[in-house]
Amino acid sequence: MRILVINAGSSSLKYQLYDMADESVLASGRVERIGMDSSIVTHEPAGKAEVRDVSEILEHTTAIKRVLDMLIHKQHGVIASIEDIQAVGHRIVHGGEVFKSSVLVTSEVKLEIRRLFDLAPLHNPAHMMGIAAVEANMPGTPQAVVFDTAFHQTMPETSYLYPIPKVLYRRHKVRRYGFHGTSHAYVSEMAARYLSQPIDSLKMITCHIGNGASCAAIRGGESIDTSMGMTPLEGLMMGTRSGDIDPAIVPYVMNKEDLTINEVNSMLNKHSGMLAVSGLSSDMREVTEAMEEGDKHAALAFDMYVYRLKKYIGAYAAAMNGVDAIVFTAGVGENSSALRKAVVDGITFLGLELDEERNALRSKEAREITTDASRVKALVVPTNEELLIARDTYKLTHGQKL
Ligand code: AMP
Repeated sequence: MRILVINAGSSSLKYQLYDMADESVLASGRVERIGMDSSIVTHEPAGKAEVRDVSEILEHTTAIKRVLDMLIHKQHGVIASIEDIQAVGHRIVHGGEVFKSSVLVTSEVKLEIRRLFDLAPLHNPAHMMGIAAVEANMPGTPQAVVFDTAFHQTMPETSYLYPIPKVLYRRHKVRRYGFHGTSHAYVSEMAARYLSQPIDSLKMITCHIGNGASCAAIRGGESIDTSMGMTPLEGLMMGTRSGDIDPAIVPYVMNKEDLTINEVNSMLNKHSGMLAVSGLSSDMREVTEAMEEGDKHAALAFDMYVYRLKKYIGAYAAAMNGVDAIVFTAGVGENSSALRKAVVDGITFLGLELDEERNALRSKEAREITTDASRVKALVVPTNEELLIARDTYKLTHGQKL
């Protein structure tokens, strides 16, 4: 069974075609600059050379058509016909309180996703364009939707409510939703497999740290708290996002600097975090290199990033009254041994002991970075949100339990 996984943005679209017999990726790629005159399709068929095509792609229906043309192309295609794709799975950022798990697309589901446009105005409308584009190009093909928020729907009220007037929750659904749920779900499942322990018996703290970053407290396989909130701005310090700050800073700065809502929003989302503190870059690689060359601002950015992450790990260990494993994933978590060392060496009181050699190793496989004697384990588990989307799509189209 072949499943096409799609992550549609407003001007870009990423795809992966899976063969679910062995969960191998037959092809992957992306369409960039949709709606502009020189749109770029980059197609990477497994075992063949990458292909790039530049043309005018004005909307998502044409983008999907180009992707399908690539997939069945005589030279760089990987399947004989479009009918070889049995189902399509979409990544959807916001599922609100309605979607607690992945579902098959129906007209009711589409209506609900539209109702959530307000909560994710940049993302959900683009995802809907992706769904409509598949319908136009592949009528009758089952589609599934997998939400970034769904995994965190198990959070109790104590975690998801904010201590503000309740009317804001009732009227406007102001609450913690959390994001990166597909990644937290995937890596916690893989970590339990790696540890050969039933997930029901484990307390884990998963740290998805890439450009965006969030932690989750996962008890018995269920998210009980997560650091991102109503939007992906809350929580950890990130590449360009501030994470937690005193909310009173917002009106104070707006007043002092005469900023509009949009300006202050942009400041906190695009001009803060590691970029602002280092004054250099939002990229952990560049910040670490500058720090090693003696740059004081880069060192401060690194230290603040580590400090804030350690505080969340401590908080979640307290929230669960214990922790068995801490899992690092995403761009920074998977690749920065310096960051992992700084974090793990700073929380030894929890029962962790870093194995320097294991931490320095580079691998695409899940692995432990603490010593055999370490009571609490630290693991690196490469995330794979697309594979989880493909798995859920497969299960839903086969009537299997998620
Ligand atoms: P992601 O959003 O998961 O793709 O993560 C992207 C981030 O991962 C980049 O901004 C980099 O800061 C970070 N990253 C990628 N490779 C490395 C590396 N080798 N060392 C440190 N950070 C890295």
